[in-house]
Amino acid sequence: MATRTEILSELGLLPLWRLRVRQGADVANEDDHADVDAATTVSEAPAAYPVDAAEPADRLQRIAALEWRGFAADVEACTTCGLCKTRNKTVPGVGDVRAEWLFVGEAPGAEEDARGEPFVGQAGRLLDNMLAALGMRRGNNVYIANVLKCRPPGNRTPEPSEVEACRPYLDRQIALIRPKLIVALGRSAATTLLNVDATIASLRGRVHRYQGVPLVVTYHPAYLLRNLPDKAKAWEDLCLARATLQRSRDGGDEKLRLQNGGADPI
Ligand code: URA
Repeated sequence: MATRTEILSELGLLPLWRLRVRQGADVANEDDHADVDAATTVSEAPAAYPVDAAEPADRLQRIAALEWRGFAADVEACTTCGLCKTRNKTVPGVGDVRAEWLFVGEAPGAEEDARGEPFVGQAGRLLDNMLAALGMRRGNNVYIANVLKCRPPGNRTPEPSEVEACRPYLDRQIALIRPKLIVALGRSAATTLLNVDATIASLRGRVHRYQGVPLVVTYHPAYLLRNLPDKAKAWEDLCLARATLQRSRDGGDEKLRLQNGGADPI
């Protein structure tokens, strides 16, 4: 198990930083879509796929009523957009279904598509280090999901129609988990969850709400791998997230205390 100093060092917050980015990798701007994992980007031609424009109401109703036992199978059977033609595995999400923390990324990359689990590539290793810096680990009070459950070829930016097709699954996951805090990793997750068109710079540094749940926006780990100085800002975002969750726990406890006629909750 890495020590806290080692983890903070890995996050670029100590002078002991070791450069891990590939020589010649693009230094992308998060607001220009940097949510692809440099390690998994391949040179396939970006392609857009048609999506069934009409979302049958019964599909939405079925997804909105899904329970965990049927969730992954429903995602696996989904053919609503063309990504079903190129995916190897669907990537529904992973973790503690009663987690307080929900992390949401953009879409699976090549490694995730091969394994069926989100954030298992190079960006995922950084995400694990970010969790460790908070004293957490995946699966333990943490759930990790993506906006899209299937990989866009070449890790291209998801089409708006693909986001719309997949969004009911994310909405259902959030309803089932009922997290106390959502961390949106990157612009794609943030703008989808908040239903806004905005830059990551304008969304960071404050607490938003997704259907009443506090939501904090930070950089996508794949972007951080290529923009090392921004790791310090990501750490600020995570500290904001942690403080927000603590406040919401305190508020919840206070409400419970008042409901109990002033007695402390047992
Ligand atoms: N990038 C994402 O947004 N999600 C993953 O699961 C992997 C890389």
